[in-house]
Amino acid sequence: MSSDTIAAVATAMMGAGIGIVRISGDQAVETADQIFRKKGGGALREQESHTIHYGTIWDSGEMIDEVMVLLMRAPRSYTREDTVEIDCHGGVYVTKRILEAVIRHGARIAEPGEFTKRAFLNGRIDLSQAESVMDVIQAKNKLALNNSVRQLSGMLSKEIQEIRSVILHEIARIESALDDPEHMSLDGYSDFLQKIVSEQEQKIRRLLAGSENGRLLREGISTVIVGKPNAGKSSLLNALLGEERAIVTNIAGTTRDTLQEQMNFNGILLNVTDTAGIRRTEDAVERIGVERSKQHLADADLAIYVADASTKLDENDFEILDLLTGHKVIILLNKSDLPAVTTEEEIAAVVRARIRSEEEDWNLRIFSFSAKEGEGMERLEHAVQEMFFSGEISFDQEVCITNVRHQSALSDALASIELVKQSIADAMPEDFYSIDLMNAYEKLGTIIGESVEDDLVNEIFGSFCMGK
Ligand code: GDP
Repeated sequence: MSSDTIAAVATAMMGAGIGIVRISGDQAVETADQIFRKKGGGALREQESHTIHYGTIWDSGEMIDEVMVLLMRAPRSYTREDTVEIDCHGGVYVTKRILEAVIRHGARIAEPGEFTKRAFLNGRIDLSQAESVMDVIQAKNKLALNNSVRQLSGMLSKEIQEIRSVILHEIARIESALDDPEHMSLDGYSDFLQKIVSEQEQKIRRLLAGSENGRLLREGISTVIVGKPNAGKSSLLNALLGEERAIVTNIAGTTRDTLQEQMNFNGILLNVTDTAGIRRTEDAVERIGVERSKQHLADADLAIYVADASTKLDENDFEILDLLTGHKVIILLNKSDLPAVTTEEEIAAVVRARIRSEEEDWNLRIFSFSAKEGEGMERLEHAVQEMFFSGEISFDQEVCITNVRHQSALSDALASIELVKQSIADAMPEDFYSIDLMNAYEKLGTIIGESVEDDLVNEIFGSFCMGK
């Protein structure tokens, strides 16, 4: 494949314990040899693969740093090319000087993602695995990391390949029968194909169903905290964050604007908006806040409704509860440390009475809570986990589609599969089946990087960080 030698700083450009300058390509070892003096003498090119060497880096007669050099020969490296990694001290200036020396001796600066692109082009990983590399780097919590690592290990690729190979088998069967009708009959085949196609459809649907979880993993669950002024919304946010970020006061209506925070809630990412207290108001500024709350609510995945259990529910509560119908809602009866005036049963009765029709699906949890004492926090965690990540998808074992590109390829493949089913139902000639099967096959192929355009490949790797 491409044989020019590339180099980049693979670690972050900031003061750190260690910095790594990575070199890959046909001339990687020779380039390193020109600037590296191994302690005790000897050139890197005489060394075994997968060995580490201690010495110093020199440029223009000047010693730059004391380093360790890792030698990995093709094809046993990330890129499948000869690779040298120079572990130096992690200062911005020193890593830059070493990179400059490497460049002066024959390598060129790598483009963002070029190491991984080479790993892809040289067949070490497929495109979906390459894409997961960035997901691993960007993972902000446990679940996102687990999922990316599963994808990196090839779990998604394997599922896609299995579906593709079944489809290809059927295309081949149809084509050969059409070519040689005397020896291969397609009598009764459409029933068989119907079954096979339905099975593949189920697999694709399952992957697509997981993509909603994937979005929540990648972007976080967008959550709004609503409730009347003084119910304890800001206190809840502070308790979640474990720090005093929102201003807590006991003057009704202080949280006028909205605050947004991203937090890691036991492995789940929540993007929390604390809205101004929703209530009927004549105050112009507060009113804007109320309108915003309504807007946020419309876009949110989850609403946490904070009710003040130490006071009676009133019209304001009822009005907000109406706004929440149909959303995923957790109602916290806050201030459980004070004598209870409103109970769980009471609020549940109010909620039931206000659900207007039987069909209205209201995914709701109600329990008592104290933002002040932190009581109910575990329950809250469980409720979120249960409402979003339980059900058909086994979140810990399967790979969730987190990539929009994969999601749209799966949707396209699904559409083609549905066309095959339709053709079977309409008793169309067999060559109709194979056209749509082929489309599904090709769409699925784009996920793992088969028959994708160069432009797309460049775009994908262009979004990588330097040195990866
Ligand atoms: P917001 O207007 O809904 O944001 O309410 P705040 O978070 O500003 O809280 C209003 C008042 O209620 C403050 O004086 C808080 O200290 C108090 N408060 C909030 N949560 C609790 C709680 O769980 N128990 C008790 N006793 N007081 C609370």
